[in-house]
Amino acid sequence: MANAVEVTVPDIGGYDDVPVIEVLVAVGDTVAKDQGLLTLESDKATMEVPSPVAGVVRELTVKVGDTLSQGTLVALVEAEAESEDGGAAGAKDQGGGAKKQETADKPDGASDAGARRQGSARPPAAPVAPSPAKPAEPAPADAPRAAAASGREPDGTCALVVLGAGPGGYTAAFRAADLGVDTVLVERHEQLGGVCLNVGCIPSKALLHVAAVIDEAAHAADMGIAFGKPKIALDGLRGHKERVVGQFNKGLAGMAKQRKVRVVHGDARFVSANELEIGDGKGGSQLLRFEQCIIAAGSQPLKLPAFPWDDPRVMDSTDALRLADIPETLLVVGGGIIGLEMATVYRALGSEVTVVELADQLMPGADRDLVKPLSDRLKKQGVAIHLKTRVVEATAAKAGIACSFDGESIPDVKQYARVLVAVGRTPNGGRLDADKAGVQVGERGFIAVDEQMRTNIPHIFAIGDLIGQPMLAHKATHEGKLAAEVAAGENRAWVARVIPSVAYTDPEIAWVGVTENEARAKGLKVGVGRFPWAASARAVGNGSAEGFTKLLFDEATHRVIGGAIVGQHAGDLIAEVALAIEMGAEAADIGHTIHPHPTLSESVAMAAEVYAGTITDLYIPKKK
Ligand SMILES: Cc1cc2nc3c(=O)[nH]c(=O)nc-3n(C[C@H](O)[C@H](O)[C@H](O)COP(=O)(O)OP(=O)(O)OC[C@H]3O[C@@H](n4cnc5c(N)ncnc54)[C@H](O)[C@@H]3O)c2cc1C
Repeated sequence: MANAVEVTVPDIGGYDDVPVIEVLVAVGDTVAKDQGLLTLESDKATMEVPSPVAGVVRELTVKVGDTLSQGTLVALVEAEAESEDGGAAGAKDQGGGAKKQETADKPDGASDAGARRQGSARPPAAPVAPSPAKPAEPAPADAPRAAAASGREPDGTCALVVLGAGPGGYTAAFRAADLGVDTVLVERHEQLGGVCLNVGCIPSKALLHVAAVIDEAAHAADMGIAFGKPKIALDGLRGHKERVVGQFNKGLAGMAKQRKVRVVHGDARFVSANELEIGDGKGGSQLLRFEQCIIAAGSQPLKLPAFPWDDPRVMDSTDALRLADIPETLLVVGGGIIGLEMATVYRALGSEVTVVELADQLMPGADRDLVKPLSDRLKKQGVAIHLKTRVVEATAAKAGIACSFDGESIPDVKQYARVLVAVGRTPNGGRLDADKAGVQVGERGFIAVDEQMRTNIPHIFAIGDLIGQPMLAHKATHEGKLAAEVAAGENRAWVARVIPSVAYTDPEIAWVGVTENEARAKGLKVGVGRFPWAASARAVGNGSAEGFTKLLFDEATHRVIGGAIVGQHAGDLIAEVALAIEMGAEAADIGHTIHPHPTLSESVAMAAEVYAGTITDLYIPKKK
């Protein structure tokens, strides 16, 4: 046997005397490289011993019931001729585990000591079903098969790796660490915080605050205080935004350290169901072996192909938040939350803004009455809104981006200094080689999970934007905590009834639970209590009289099942409605809760009173 390769038991996490529960091949069988030869089972995990080469099994030296340790000879495989040139010999070192590579450069402190601290042994080389829990659902017939473990000596190991340090990922990592789990957090960017902190929620809200200050100052003239035209120092404005973000970048890095979460910076891809390869972007990489994983890799802006993306005047939301300049004219493609928030910022800074939206209303999906005050305000401010219209083609010209349109409301202006494309986000599920871990990724890049956030591979969880709508930070955070608690062994599942949505536009729009659109579509019997803010002295004093608070009640139980608020601080106020829904509150519970006066929060109680017929701050004639 010129090419005989000795197959030995690889690193199995430091276990000794692990019993063989199944021999998967017989002498004479032809095997593929990485094909399992036998199965070992400890009290912690089940694992296969793979063949390091393709070839024919010439000898089996173990049988079911034998107990094995790292380095025990299990078989002789005659390697195929073509694997001679490096394959066979190299493979012996790899798969046989005979030659242990002692590596100095473990991922940023990722060490075996960490795994032991948590009380768990290092994970086995190629676990088949290491998780104690059952999978989300049986893997469909076309589910990807996990690749066999690389057989390589890992550069580091951990009990739990969290892939992605956005609000979902860092929350999961911190919660897991707080529960005593040895945790590694992997992030490709230098800063933690993901989209939300770096190029999403936080910078956009810092800029929206500035926009609100500009607008308030402009309206102060109506109240006898004139400030004059604002002078905008773009560097100062960018500095404000960057300081806010930077403060929280630092805070997250500090909290990771305090919790002893080991942060590894690099681009991670699955190699097998228990290994990630983390590239450093300079050609180097490190192999991390894990027992459990939470995928929290988020999403990125959808790039419509009709636009010349190599021209910097065509922007996605990340580009728009950089505030390269204040363009004279800005076309916003997409009238959803992100597009309208950025339209609000640029309009306040002085751009002439045009919005085109394919649907027949802004913020498609939200109740029409919620959107009307915003639409009216934007039009009054000079924002051109074109519904049922789309950009067919956009080309880069010297003086701007030339656009052609199709639809019911074609803009007069055809060339814009800048164009912001804000038509949605696409999940990053398809960019992780998740199939090598056996994780099923849907056609559009979403990963399906069960109510415990487990994917079809039970020890791999997924959370945040990449598991589906709504793509919101507070959803990701909630899921992150849940997945971490389940991974730590707690018996938890998704029980939240509702997830609030907020557009931080002017006026703000917030909604939670059942909408009127949804109630109508589903034929639900609901009663509506609507309190107009024109009847709130506080709202009128604040210049927010166009706002309103609306609650939807189940007619059978009088329990609140939905709510929406338009006006100042709607995003803050909606939390009370979310709590009321979670608590199963009835109209009387909300109406009888004493709210402070004069506040906008009173409007929630008053909407309940409108429904109950007990309101005294409005006169509603009795129905005959
Ligand atoms: C302009 C804008 C404004 C927004 N405003 C709000 C708002 O006001 N409120 C709200 O709730 N939501 C808002 N969102 C949405 C919110 O940002 C997301 O829902 C949230 O960030 C999702 O969190 P996540 O943890 O799922 O993923 P992300 O925040 O996308 O984080 C994923 C992380 O994974 C990393 N990653 C991805 N792939 C790899 C890999 N292979 N290796 C290593 N690291 C990887 C990424 O670099 C990223 O840091 C906004 C989004 C945008 C764009």
